[in-house]
Amino acid sequence: MVRPAFDIKKPSFKLPERAKIFTRVICGECGDGAPEHKIRLKEGRKVCLDCAQEYPRGW
Ligand SMILES: [Zn+2]
Repeated sequence: MVRPAFDIKKPSFKLPERAKIFTRVICGECGDGAPEHKIRLKEGRKVCLDCAQEYPRGW
């Protein structure tokens, strides 16, 4: 049986050299730090936007 290969590509973007000072919050899901305004609450935990999105992962 041949499984299809899934290649999730993220758009690459350049980060600004001069980073503004954000309050960084550690995502409770993936452990990455994210600026506070990109943190969402999910089941009472602070998670980053990526983890807050419920995207289907059926495969
Ligand atoms: Zn996360």
